[in-house]
Amino acid sequence: MELPMPDSLSAAHFRDDTAARKLIEGIRWPNGTVCPYCGTLAKSYALKKAGWYRCSSKECRKDFTVTMGTVMERSHIPLHKWLIAFYLMNSSKKGISSHQLHRTLGIKYQSAWFMTHRIREAMRSGGLAPMGGSGKTVEADETYFHTIPKDELLPKTGKRGRRAGARRPGYRAVLALVERGGSVRTFHIANADQNTVSKIMRENVAKETRIHTDESGIYNLVPWRFAEHETVKHSAYEYVRGDVTTNTVEGYFSIFKRGMKGIYQHCGEKHLHHYLAEFDHRYNHRVALGFNDTDRTLAAIKGASGKRLTYRQPN
Ligand SMILES: [Zn+2]
Repeated sequence: MELPMPDSLSAAHFRDDTAARKLIEGIRWPNGTVCPYCGTLAKSYALKKAGWYRCSSKECRKDFTVTMGTVMERSHIPLHKWLIAFYLMNSSKKGISSHQLHRTLGIKYQSAWFMTHRIREAMRSGGLAPMGGSGKTVEADETYFHTIPKDELLPKTGKRGRRAGARRPGYRAVLALVERGGSVRTFHIANADQNTVSKIMRENVAKETRIHTDESGIYNLVPWRFAEHETVKHSAYEYVRGDVTTNTVEGYFSIFKRGMKGIYQHCGEKHLHHYLAEFDHRYNHRVALGFNDTDRTLAAIKGASGKRLTYRQPN
């Protein structure tokens, strides 16, 4: 298949396994090999078998490859196919389905499904500094995806998630925080209520930040936690008032929903956060912030290291 060839990714990376491996080695080991067992830097020698190194540390002497400790570990899919998958998931606005990848790469559907989940894991960012700050604006909004199962109904009322300010009791929500002109963070939350929302916002947004939301009751605790809280009244068809708007965060949701509808129809609830990580990664490395398709792909490959995977691999 035809792929555009940007600067630091070339046709060779998508077709030649050695070239693909060298690229990944360059990204993971900019200062020389790092032994995944003992952490020894730049002290190893290449073994006969391509891509294998032996640690030179006397106490270690273990053999390793560049994919150990990454989302590609122990996969039998050739590395150039991994790079194609990384590139396709990063360059298409709404992502690519496992079915499409299975046809494009000529691999089993199950393997393609597995790859897309692992690449989403590579795209996940963690341990971040607070968003916003003095003079910055963060827009918050939520959207609803799944109904809450009956066995999780609140015992006292017998009703589905009837909690303070909850707008749509009985539904699971995705909360998105978007810094205007900056990045997004999304959260799949069990109950969209005041306490849950305000806790997430306190943990993720600097308190000097201006917060813009709609008039939903779930943001009622926000004024006590942040410098300013301004709302637009969607029920009265008000979408922009001065510079107060939630259009940015709604723009994020519209891409996410179109992607989920068109490509990922059968997303179970337990996987939703993986899809959110994927859409967040593309949004946080978007063209308006100076990233092109290659930068975005390379950032994801960089993120492939040190991710712990909890699901079993089929191949
Ligand atoms: Zn070692």
